Amino acid sequence: MKREQQDSLCWYRSNLLADLPHGMFCRHGGVSEQPFASLNLSYGVGDQPDKVTINRQRLKQCLGITHLVSAVQVHGDQVLVLEEIEQDSEYAGVDALVTQQPGVGLLIQQADCQAVLLYDPVQQVIAAAHNGWKGSVLNIIAATVQVMQARFGTDPAHLRAVLSPSLGPCCAEFVNWRQELPASMHGQQIRANYFDFWAISREQLVATGIKETQIETAGLCTVCNQDFFSYRRAGKKLGTGRCGSVLMLPAL
Ligand SMILES: [Zn+2]
Repeated sequence: MKREQQDSLCWYRSNLLADLPHGMFCRHGGVSEQPFASLNLSYGVGDQPDKVTINRQRLKQCLGITHLVSAVQVHGDQVLVLEEIEQDSEYAGVDALVTQQPGVGLLIQQADCQAVLLYDPVQQVIAAAHNGWKGSVLNIIAATVQVMQARFGTDPAHLRAVLSPSLGPCCAEFVNWRQELPASMHGQQIRANYFDFWAISREQLVATGIKETQIETAGLCTVCNQDFFSYRRAGKKLGTGRCGSVLMLPAL
């Protein structure tokens, strides 16, 4: 994982996605004010929409994105395949996006949740999934890979996967884990009430057939690291913005 900086924007890149414009962005370099300062990319958290639009424009310029596409994420496991995109758009009711169209940036919005970025360099297909703990329980990772297989003939052995900065094992306390998490995840309890969701996602990725060597975890906890929005750090009352992770097949 490499940190990049351009003016006041900063973001992380993975060597596994070196062929693609992509980034896991910090919260800096936007125009929003507290508690959304400053690169808030979500229209759904109470920020001024015109500021969010400027922030999204900065992200597009930074990576050379033609059309930026996102989801109104609902912590479900629905996957949407995007074809013939001609403008920026946001789709309701889904948490994962898949496309083969060059120039279309797939944006995941996060404040502690994982963005899972997938790239099939053989079939030239990309996917991005919003994966919070509810997504982990539903295994949206498997759902996304299955759509890539069924629609585009992806062989998981060719896939590359990157896990964005997100809630780390240091801060992933689940007091009600017996009710919230299935038995298959209980083995990832690293101390009383704390779980390693990075490891859970790795297991789910490997279970689809992706090679261990083709998975990279950012390993940055968004609660500990002030460069990112964190729902857990901010608390429900104050609220916070959403960082963005985005990838794109290069524009033709
Ligand atoms: Zn932490």
